[in-house]
Amino acid sequence: MVSTVIPVQPFDLVIFGGTGDLARRKIFPSLYRRMAVGQMPTDARIVGAARSEMDVKAFRKTVSEALDEFVDPKVLKPEVVKNFLNCIEYVQIDAKGTNGWPELKKLLNERSDSIRAFYLSVAPSLFEDIATRLSKSGIATPDSRIVVEKPLGHDLESAVALNRSLSQSFCEQQIYRIDHYLGKETVQNLMAIRFANALFEPLWNARHVEHIQITVAETVGVEGRGAYYDKSGAMRDMVQNHMMQLLCLTAMEPPARFEPDAVRDEKLKVIRALDPLSASDTVRGQYRATGDEGSYLDHVGDPSSRTESFVALRCHISNWRWAGTPFYLRTGKKLGARLSEIVVTFKHPPHTIFPQVDAQKGNALIIRLQPDEGITMRVTIKDPGPGGMRLIEVPLDMTFADALGEEAGVMPEAYERLIMDVIRGDQTLFMRGDEVEAAWAWTDPIIKLWSESSVRPLPYDPKTGGPIESYKLTGAEGHLWREISA
Ligand code: NAP
Repeated sequence: MVSTVIPVQPFDLVIFGGTGDLARRKIFPSLYRRMAVGQMPTDARIVGAARSEMDVKAFRKTVSEALDEFVDPKVLKPEVVKNFLNCIEYVQIDAKGTNGWPELKKLLNERSDSIRAFYLSVAPSLFEDIATRLSKSGIATPDSRIVVEKPLGHDLESAVALNRSLSQSFCEQQIYRIDHYLGKETVQNLMAIRFANALFEPLWNARHVEHIQITVAETVGVEGRGAYYDKSGAMRDMVQNHMMQLLCLTAMEPPARFEPDAVRDEKLKVIRALDPLSASDTVRGQYRATGDEGSYLDHVGDPSSRTESFVALRCHISNWRWAGTPFYLRTGKKLGARLSEIVVTFKHPPHTIFPQVDAQKGNALIIRLQPDEGITMRVTIKDPGPGGMRLIEVPLDMTFADALGEEAGVMPEAYERLIMDVIRGDQTLFMRGDEVEAAWAWTDPIIKLWSESSVRPLPYDPKTGGPIESYKLTGAEGHLWREISA
């Protein structure tokens, strides 16, 4: 199967924080891969902007090293690398000062007809300074785009303040809030499965769905990021953004059109229909030490920390489609496998003539985001052979690697897709300001409740599914978490 690549228009992309980790690991490699497949034009310009003193030659060398480190050698072609590095420029700039701004303006004004985008790959504390300077200096045109990364606030109040400060310089149609989960092929496929097939949508509701689970499990601990993570925790770091987006796409009504605001309106309605969480709907955990590996408390260096490295939630959406169907969300560090998936478990047939079917199982649609992006349908069939009417469960596997063969090896990463969408001016896979605020409005009260409670997060053993109490959360309604295993 060969996919069609439609080249984007020539563009100037300024990456504030061009010397940083995100730029090196994700942004430059993603842009390179888009050039390698012919989507990024060779006359595009990518301008690194940071305080570090270096000339363009030295900066191109750092970009070249990043490509060597983070791009699959099979895709690294000398001719493409040369063309790519020729697109790279560098401006030494201080987001908080006056240095570098006239130089950036001069560089961009060398050609005023290309699309302009500004990627703020810097700490959020610099967003307002950069946005204001871009606007006041006239560097940002009415058609320019600005891209911001999580964390988009740490509570409702700070998210509102951030939206307000961005909106003083850019209108909502210019602001691209990245959640890289939305750029994953499977997440977009979730929409295709739901809205391009007549098969699933009639079943996609409380009458036919028993429960839905969303799991984002990591095997790593907080290690080097302990100080940052301890101020955040699983709820802020994962649930408020990535998991909320997955929940919205799973639960939303079909939008009238596949257009940014039509999709985002429907997602917003889901967030607003979520019931407030009570403490009994939640389980928080912190991983224990094992062998010579420290515990969460060791890693953050604070034995009294009450920040959660694991959280499980039982959520309900109060609308016609979902009333009564639990949505279970679970995320954590140091779990049994690195895995992100959405599992839609369907109800049993109203009358079964095969009493031996396992009561815990039944049809399920498993949408796997990582590893091995793909979709599996769990169905019950007769065990082949003459052994009588024995039933077994088999997966109908739609792993993209199998379906696409060689093509899967070049399946775009989330950042590739999202950066090209910025250039194309398509906001469908980006969060709108009101969505971000609504998500914080839902998570804030429970975070506040936890912070005021004397109950500590529960310890759990690494390489497991988290605290045993999280199994009671689903078990109370007769449901079972899918195992977290590779
Ligand atoms: P980082 O490695 O610390 O890089 C920060 C960048 O900002 C550097 O290029 C730094 O360069 C530049 N910078 C700092 N102060 C500046 C100033 N006053 N003016 C101009 N440039 C300045 O951070 P990162 O990991 O790349 O993360 C960047 C942002 O993306 C953060 O908001 C982070 O939360 C978010 N994010 C990162 C990841 C990731 O995987 N890394 C994932 C999701 C979200 P100079 O020191 O040379 O100025």
